[in-house]
This record gives sequence, structure tokens and C-alpha cells, in this order.
Amino acid sequence: MNARPKKSFGQHFLHEKRYIERIVGAIAPQADDRVVEIGPGEGALTLPLLAAAGRLTAIELDTDLIPALQARASAVGTLEIIHADVLKVDLTAMARRLGVPRVRLAGNLPYYISSPILFHCVEHAGAIGDMHFMLQKEVVDRMAAEPGSKVYGRLSVMLQLACRVEPLFTVPPGAFRPPPKVDSAVVRLVPLAAHERHGTDPQRLHAIVKAAFAQRRKTLANGLKGLLDADAIARAGIDPKARAETLAPGDFVRLATLEH
Ligand code: SAM
Repeated sequence: MNARPKKSFGQHFLHEKRYIERIVGAIAPQADDRVVEIGPGEGALTLPLLAAAGRLTAIELDTDLIPALQARASAVGTLEIIHADVLKVDLTAMARRLGVPRVRLAGNLPYYISSPILFHCVEHAGAIGDMHFMLQKEVVDRMAAEPGSKVYGRLSVMLQLACRVEPLFTVPPGAFRPPPKVDSAVVRLVPLAAHERHGTDPQRLHAIVKAAFAQRRKTLANGLKGLLDADAIARAGIDPKARAETLAPGDFVRLATLEH
């Protein structure tokens, strides 16, 4: 299988066996799991995952890759390939259709839309048991960053309010064909249980987090103009002159819960 990788689809095919084994080992799929893979490509992860789980659903945008993958999978297990843009797939409905409360997500993600995919998964966190994703290392660093860090921002806050973020290991460019320009990393995300999740309106929360980090040098009161005034911010026990990067994820929940 040597299709010419398409840049426009973010195709970097994983070929180094030891990384494939480490990823599949981290996922450790069980026979009863309903694993859903995002972007199976030529099947580097698909086939070993299928061998372990017996069945698998994969979502692939590039039609050209589907017939060969389907053919290779037939001897291994039951592979359902959905030809779609993952951002348009209702993952909650998919779990229902597969007959489980939660699916397990996996994928070596297309890097050009990795943040939108992560936000999409957060929206469906209630129907997801866990996620194992390969991403640019820089994105994994941002997801796991703590307040005060230079890379702490919107992605850190939104991901940490929805999931436990567990960076696993780094993967060098040479493990892929063609090699990407940057290091990659594998991360495990485990959605928080219902009682641990914030009950705030997610759209309001997202608007506040986005505005607060849009201009990192501004004070919170300046960044949140039009959304919350300085008095309201102070009512939440937060200094209106503070910078967004010093606030813990829970502080943003408090801001989003304020009357406005
Ligand atoms: N899993 C394979 C591997 O590890 O070798 C391929 C990984 S490659 C980085 C990303 C894959 O995602 C490609 O197969 C690409 O066609 C697919 N893809 C790109 N955009 C997509 C989208 N919006 N929805 C679903 N799949 C997408």
C-alpha cells in the first residue's frame, strides 16, 4: 500500500512498528469495546486495533483510501468505514447506534484540524469512554499546560474542564511517511464523570475563555469587555486586573456562571 499521501488531508502515515505497538498497547482494546478510529489512512493502527477488538468503526474523509483498507481488513475482523468529515459526525448518535453508552476514540489525527476535532470531541464527551490521539507535540503541551505557563490557553482550559489529560510519549518525525516538520506526541484523554463536570452553559464558557485569551497581554476586564464588567469579575472573587493566563480552569467556570 503506497498511495501518494495527500497534504491537503494532513496525511502522514505511521510506519514504525514500535510506535504502532506502543499506541495499541496504551489503548489495550477489549473484545466488548466499541472503538472508533478517526482517519484510518492506510490502516497502520486500524489493523492491529481490529485484530484485538474484533470489530471497529473508522471515519475517513479520503475516498481513495477506503477500498484498499476495506479489502485488507476483511481477513482480520469486522471493519465499518464511514466516509465522512469527522467534524460532521454526531459521536453521541454513533455510540447509541453501536449500542454502548460510550465509545473509545483513537486516531493519528490530521494536524490541520486537530484543535477543531478536540473541541468536537469535548462536545460529545458524555458519549466517550476515552481517547488516544497522536497530535503535534506542541498541541499536547498546550492541552496539558498549567496556569502561569507560556503555552497555557484556550485549549488547556477547555480540555481540562472536560477531561483528564495524560500525555503518554513523544514520536519523532521519522516514524511517518512523509515525515511531518514537527515532533508528535500521543495523549490519553479521559472525560470526567458527570458529577465532576461543570454545569455551565458551554457556549457562554467558550465565549469567555476565547475572549480572555484573545489578547494575552490585556487585563481580564479589558479582554472581557462586552461580556462581563469589572464589578462582576470582582464579585466572582477574581481580580479584574489579572491576566487570563493566571486563572485556573475552575475560575473560568465561575466567570461563566455570573449573571450578566
Ligand atoms: N491513521 C493513519 C496512520 O496512522 O498512518 C493515518 C493518519 S494521517 C495523519 C490522518 C488521516 O486522517 C488521513 O487518513 C486523512 O485522510 C484523514 N482525514 C483528514 N481529514 C479528515 C477529516 N476531516 N475527517 C476524517 N478523516 C480525515
